[in-house]
Amino acid sequence: MDREADVVVIGGGITGTAILAELARYDLHCVLVEKEPDIAAGTTKANSAVLHAGFDAPQGSMKARMNVAGNRLYHELQEQLDLDIQWTGSLVVATDAAEEAVLHELLARGQANGVPDLAIWDGKKVHEQEPNLSLQIRAALWAPTAGICWPFGLAIAFAENAVQNGAEILRECEVTGIRTEAGKITAVETTAGLIRTRWVVNAGGVEADRVSQWAGDVSFSIQPRKGEYVLFDKTAQPDLVKGVIFPTPSRTSKGILVCATTHGNVFVGPNAQNIEDREDTAVTAAGMAEILSGARKLVPKIPMGAAITEFAGIRAVSSTGDFVLGFSKNVDGLVQAAGIQSPGLTSAPAIARYIAGLLVKASKAALRADYQAGRPAHPTLRTLTPDGQEKLIAGDSRYGRVICRCETITEGEIVDAIHRPCGARTVDGVKRRTRAGMGRCQGGFCGPRIVQILARELKIPVSSVRKETRASYMYYDKDEMSGGNA
Ligand SMILES: Cc1cc2nc3c(=O)[nH]c(=O)nc-3n(C[C@H](O)[C@H](O)[C@H](O)COP(=O)(O)OP(=O)(O)OC[C@H]3O[C@@H](n4cnc5c(N)ncnc54)[C@H](O)[C@@H]3O)c2cc1C
Repeated sequence: MDREADVVVIGGGITGTAILAELARYDLHCVLVEKEPDIAAGTTKANSAVLHAGFDAPQGSMKARMNVAGNRLYHELQEQLDLDIQWTGSLVVATDAAEEAVLHELLARGQANGVPDLAIWDGKKVHEQEPNLSLQIRAALWAPTAGICWPFGLAIAFAENAVQNGAEILRECEVTGIRTEAGKITAVETTAGLIRTRWVVNAGGVEADRVSQWAGDVSFSIQPRKGEYVLFDKTAQPDLVKGVIFPTPSRTSKGILVCATTHGNVFVGPNAQNIEDREDTAVTAAGMAEILSGARKLVPKIPMGAAITEFAGIRAVSSTGDFVLGFSKNVDGLVQAAGIQSPGLTSAPAIARYIAGLLVKASKAALRADYQAGRPAHPTLRTLTPDGQEKLIAGDSRYGRVICRCETITEGEIVDAIHRPCGARTVDGVKRRTRAGMGRCQGGFCGPRIVQILARELKIPVSSVRKETRASYMYYDKDEMSGGNA
């Protein structure tokens, strides 16, 4: 079925969802299209989850500008959108004089970029803050405005806010082409039909150069660069680190870090490896050895026996060396939000304001009178007082049935996650909205029950429930598949 929209946003990662939420403040009909069954399923799902302070990127670059502004905006948006963020601060550590000199370069760059309250600490102060760090560490750059976050939760929050304000999100809707007439955008071709539109925002992550080429803009290319991680159980060594520990950076990467998560785990990674296949998120033995060796230089006692999962994410490294942001010079109506490698997560709210600002000016759109900040509340049993828990369960007994025992996630929370605006449709979608399956057993116990709940609530057969991607079916039910004639 053909549709019409003022703006089509391609890509449901943090960049696309943040832009959609910002555009939804205005009287524009905006449609976001995502090829996977859920949003936040690309690079946004697998990264270091650090909200960087902003001292890495060169002064004057879009990366530096968006990073510092994005970090500041998250401080403002945290309460409004109920974002899972902890402002832990970050340390870049040095073990010799050459590395100490780099810390001073980072300090000067950060100050030029407008990062507040940076300081160089000596080894004593560093070890008071983080007692488990290597004794080889003799100084560090302290950035108190850095933080850690639940990355998919941020994208989901932007999406929920956007849908609440009338934006549409079409999932399993893959863009296959972009139509232009006389160099001007007219429509987007998708697997769910044609969408006629005046403007297209390209937030296609590692695919953004291909998306751009379909419209006729070949001004940049994307080099995929993989980074691998290991995540540790939260009971293994609580307080191994309190925040974010970086080594001194290399030319291509911020280096292998040791980092806390907002839910009390620790992870190590990433390495940096250029790859050809844009979907290659396999972890390798060599990669694991590399990141463990890097992590042990920062924290000698890495609890390897408590590893619960490994994963990898892919950076979208632009040939321009910077974020590609703004109106295409070659195609009228194409707006680029491409080449969004690190610090893309941190920069997203600032990128969104920048891109929405351009489109609002071009379209002369007005603010909506009925705009609603925030998003619907989502009760979580584990965060309530005993009194609060009792009241919640009295109101809905499903909040009294714990489905994920590792993380104490109830049936009520899972049902809510499915029926919220842009709700979960897959097992991983439930996981990224509630944490069910994120714990020590990694869904071994709760997985089958979550499949049943998804099937019941979405009114689909169990055999149609998927783990994450389009073909990731989890069960073969011979009765269902044969229509009961098996
Ligand atoms: C190893 C690693 C560590 C990182 N660490 C940090 C960090 O600590 N802090 C930080 O700020 N940043 C970090 N980043 C960067 C950050 O994760 C990214 O910048 C950010 O997630 C990019 O979001 P995005 O929305 O641009 O892309 P994505 O999340 O990849 O979203 C793009 C979406 O477009 C969809 N899509 C593609 N083609 C089509 C099509 N044809 N039709 C429809 N949909 C399509 C994809 O399915 C995908 O969902 C890291 C990245 C990596 C890889």
